[in-house]
Parts: sequence; C-alpha cells; structure tokens
Amino acid sequence: MLKKVHLRLTLLGTGVTGGILILTTLIYLFVWENNLWKNRFQTFQSDMNNVVSSLENTTVISGTYLSSLEAGGRYLVYLEDNGTPFLYGNIVENEERQDKQALLTEVKDYYEDHFDDMPKGLIFAYHTEFIYEKRTGLLSKDKFYVCAAILSKEQGQLSLFIISPQSSYQKQLIWQWLFFALINLLAILVLYLFFHQLTGYALRPVKESTEKQERFIASASHELRTPLSVMLSCAALIPSEDKKEQKRLCDIIENEGGVMKRLLNEMLLSASLSVSQITLEKEESEADTLLLNCVEAFEPMANEKGLTLSALLPEESIPPLYCDKHKIEQVLSILLHNAISYTERGGSITASLSYHKSGKRHFVFSVADTGIGILDQDKKQIFERFYRSDESRSEKEHFGLGLSIAKEIVEGHKGSIKVKDTPGGGSTFIMELI
Ligand code: ADP
Repeated sequence: MLKKVHLRLTLLGTGVTGGILILTTLIYLFVWENNLWKNRFQTFQSDMNNVVSSLENTTVISGTYLSSLEAGGRYLVYLEDNGTPFLYGNIVENEERQDKQALLTEVKDYYEDHFDDMPKGLIFAYHTEFIYEKRTGLLSKDKFYVCAAILSKEQGQLSLFIISPQSSYQKQLIWQWLFFALINLLAILVLYLFFHQLTGYALRPVKESTEKQERFIASASHELRTPLSVMLSCAALIPSEDKKEQKRLCDIIENEGGVMKRLLNEMLLSASLSVSQITLEKEESEADTLLLNCVEAFEPMANEKGLTLSALLPEESIPPLYCDKHKIEQVLSILLHNAISYTERGGSITASLSYHKSGKRHFVFSVADTGIGILDQDKKQIFERFYRSDESRSEKEHFGLGLSIAKEIVEGHKGSIKVKDTPGGGSTFIMELI
C-alpha cells in the first residue's frame, strides 16, 4: 500500500516537473529555430541583393564570379541571356551536381509556368517540396531558398535563378533536437531518482507509524488470545462438570475476563495516546501534594508485600507545576506499581521530588526501588509497547504497556522519562517536567 503511494508520488512529481521541463525545452527550441530560419532567409536576401546589383551594373558577366558564388555548395546559379542558357566555369559533373542542376531547371520551369509574364524585379521564396528530395534521397521536405529575377540589360533580358539548399542546417537542427531529447531524458531520470528519495524521506514517519501500528495489533491480538482461549476451554468444560468444578471454572472465566478488561483498557489508552496528539487538561497543581497522594494510595499495597514506601519532598515551598494533574498521577502510579511489583519482600521504595531553578526542566520526580533491577540492554526497550523482561512475562498483572503509556504522557508535557540503576541495586525512574 505504502509502496504504491510512494511510486505514485514519485511518478507524479517526476511527471509534473518533467512535463514542465519538456514544455520549456520545446518552446525554447521552437523560438530558436524560428529565429535561425528568419536570420538565414534575411542573409540570403541580402546576399542576393548584392548579386543582382552587381549583375545589373556589369556589362560583361564573368564566369569566375558565378563559379565563386557556387563554391562550397552554398548557391546554385542558372542564367539565361535572352533565352540562351549561360554556361560558365569548370562544371564538375557528378551525381549531386546533376541532381541540383535538375532541381534548378525544375525551379525555373515552375516559375515560368506560374508567371506567364515574370514580374520585373526580384522574387524571394523558400520551398520545401520539389522533386529535389526524391532525387537526392535526402531528408524529406528539404528546404531551399529561391531567388528569381529578370533583369533588363541594354542587350536584352537576363533571367536569373539562384537556389540555396538548406539541408545541412536542417541536419544540424535534427542533431540539436536529438541532443536536447537526450538531455531531457537524463534530467527526467535524475528527477525520478530525486523524487523517489524525497517522497521516501517524507513518507518515512508514515511508514514508521504504520509499522508501529502493525506491531501493536500483532502484539495486542497475541496478548488477548491467551485469556480468551482459557475462557473458551473453561466454558466448554462447564456443562459436563459437577457443581463444585463448575464454580471453579466460572471463577477462572471471571478472573480471565478481568485480565482481558484491564488489558483492553490499557490498550485503548495506549492506542489513543499515540494515534492522536494527547489532549491535556493543564492546570496549576501542587507537585508535592500530587506525589504524596500517589504514595499514600500505594501504601497498603507496599505494606502487604512487606516493603518500605517513603516520600522525599523539597523542604522549601516550590512554585506550582502546570500540568494535567490526572495524567501525571497516572504516570506516578505506573512507576510506583512497577516498583512494588519488581521489588522483593523487605526492600524499600523512595518516591522523591526536587525543584531546580536553573536548567530546562525544573521539576524532577523519581521513584527508586531496591528491586530486581533492569539489564542495560532492556533499559531502552522497556518504554516500548508490550515489552516485558523475561522475569515479568508470566505475570498476569503486567502487559508491558505501563511504561509506554507513561512515556507518551510525559512527552505530551514536553518532559522526559528515563531509568537508571539505583546505587546498591534496583531501578530508579526519573521524570523531568518543565
Ligand atoms: P508491565 O506492565 O509489564 O510492568 P511496563 O511497561 O510498566 O509493563 O514495564 C515494562 C517492563 O519493564 C516490565 O515488564 C519489567 O520487565 C520492566 N520494569 C518496569 N519497572 C521496573 C522496575 N521498577 N524494576 C524492574 N523492572 C521493571
């Protein structure tokens, strides 16, 4: 699913930017090509003006001059002096020359057919389709410019046809288009890689959250399956058992139901805390009273287990703590409950509060026990959902959600929570709040 979104976003980004790139390149090439042809035609016209004026002003037409015009294949010249073709220079007879000459004759015929009386003066035109292309086998629609003129001379009339083939420029242009197409292709490839990385980076939090959610669902269903299967097997036995046994099975079902209820409550709380931003109802609270109330609430439990539970509060008065009182109480309860659960009879637990004027976080709550302690490799993981150390795995009271809930609440307050070893053995959880 996420892979599909990733691919779609990549294609969308590449498509839009690639499209813009191609469009700009096309506009650029189109304008550039238009200007090129405009300039070429203007150069041709001005060259032809020069040729015509020098032919008009001269009495003797020099073959060398005409040959120099044809040099390099730029122009092909055809002259008729009072209807007689004017032959000049050392015409090299090769196939290309013959083809071009044939084209020239064709152009002449075309003009003579179309203008019964050729207008006096100059005609400039450019053509793309003549028999020329078929004969030479060059690119179709070869472009060439034509200059046709009838000049009045003292001795009569001089007909002039000059053509200027443009196929070499056309070839150059085609290479240019191919070059730009290649550059665009490469650019699109780079854009694709860029968008692939970018969208991958942008989707990373979504991916992480989806993975977290999947892990949560997997662990939750695993945890729920155990009490549920106990309940189902007990329910299946009930009809065939005697009254006493039925009572025992019902008790088990009730007990497992209670476990499930607690688990579901914790799961729902944990899920709601991490799916959305937690809603905190903050108010000014007395931090020492808050801690004291929690300690008092856990005293009977500690006594029952033979543990010493004490509270250490700052001697001087401290400013109020701006927090969601009930949620912070919940965190302290989780820490105290854990401390009692993971400390053996005879141990001690100290819940303390200190206030620091300097530093970023002023209120420091800690719950230190002399219990079984936490291995270094477990210290980070215990704040993850459903993480339990091996010792607590068999306990039905513990689902591995408490500390993850505590972490969400503390982080919602922009505070921090960590664990370290208690000197002499045990664990100390430290919660720092602003
Ligand atoms: P649980 O409901 O299992 O206590 P928690 O998220 O509160 O879930 O704790 C995760 C795990 O961290 C526990 O299973 C336990 O292994 C370890 N842990 C938490 N508090 C303590 C403690 N005070 N002493 C030793 N281990 C602890």
